[in-house]
Amino acid sequence: MIVTRGCELSVVVPAFEEAECLGHALEIIAAHCRALTDDFEIVVVDDGSSDGTWAELESRAGSLRELRAVRLSRNFGKEAALFAGLAEAGGSAVVVMDADLQHPPALLGVFYRLWKSAAADVVEGVKRSRTREPLLRRLFSSVFNRLLTLLTGCDFRGNSDFNLLDRRVVDTLLRMPERRSFFRGMVGWLGFRHYRIEFDVEPRQEGISRWGTIALIRLAGRAVVSYSGVPLRLIHIAAGGFLLMASSVGARSLWLYVTGAAIGGFMTVILLLLVLGALVLLSLGVIAEYLGAIYEEAKGRPRYLISQRLCSQEFCAAGQIANLAGALDTPHSALSREQTRTP
Ligand code: UDP
Ligand code: MG
Repeated sequence: MIVTRGCELSVVVPAFEEAECLGHALEIIAAHCRALTDDFEIVVVDDGSSDGTWAELESRAGSLRELRAVRLSRNFGKEAALFAGLAEAGGSAVVVMDADLQHPPALLGVFYRLWKSAAADVVEGVKRSRTREPLLRRLFSSVFNRLLTLLTGCDFRGNSDFNLLDRRVVDTLLRMPERRSFFRGMVGWLGFRHYRIEFDVEPRQEGISRWGTIALIRLAGRAVVSYSGVPLRLIHIAAGGFLLMASSVGARSLWLYVTGAAIGGFMTVILLLLVLGALVLLSLGVIAEYLGAIYEEAKGRPRYLISQRLCSQEFCAAGQIANLAGALDTPHSALSREQTRTP
């Protein structure tokens, strides 16, 4: 479904179980946007929350005329929510930011002015310090970002989802057909004129982070498999190394046999079997990851499903809701049960 309102600035906010902080965040974001332009919208994507996030949005829609919201039919994850927001946004510039105010709204002005002065197509928020995050989390992020930088050749160090994208970039992103999306990776891959702005990650206003260790590891695995074939090549390298080792051990055993000396006991055999077994299983695991990725893409399911929409009276009355049936034709989204509501 295409419900877009051509405007100057869209701010896309994915929200999952953010009832506690969303109202406050919306007020602050709207105040910062208003200082920049009158022609803006805030697009909130409720990623299948069960805690009253949607009710909070419904209660705000009457007073905040720039607010639009879509509700996904279940929790599809932040990546899908981001793309739902990008598809809904109609701004010439689109900013993506978190609902917990960890991405400082004060930087909206800096991002916007850089874009307005035509200095950049993509303004990236880069995390300067993460000292307030737990040590393990920082360590994991640092290893992950370095690994991804090494594997893909794009600079992922300090990267965040806090970005401003020019309309051209948003449209290009939306045309990329992959289902296993990784927003930061895709934006980095696209190129265009990037400008990096450092920021300090603020502490979360309310609630808790939804990214547990397992979710982060899954995202990391997904990103590596989606953006690099290096793990597959590593299998070749490991196999080559093992072949070398096997050849030298084999040659030595043969030499000992020919010279009549005794061959080392079971230890060598056991070690070889263990190493070989582990290597084969590991390689199978890597191949399975890629196979799974191909399977997921081949199914071609939409990235997300929208179950409800919300927009201000003024916006809906303007008759800008277009082509409900078209929703099913879009490559990324589909409507399960269309409900467009005005407060
Ligand atoms: N989020 C989402 N879907 C999810 C998990 C998170 O839309 O399944 C949103 C969340 O509401 C927030 C943003 O993504 O606006 C970042 O999430 P969070 O603060 O939990 O992650 P962290 O800042 O710890 O990386
Ligand atoms: Mg957060």
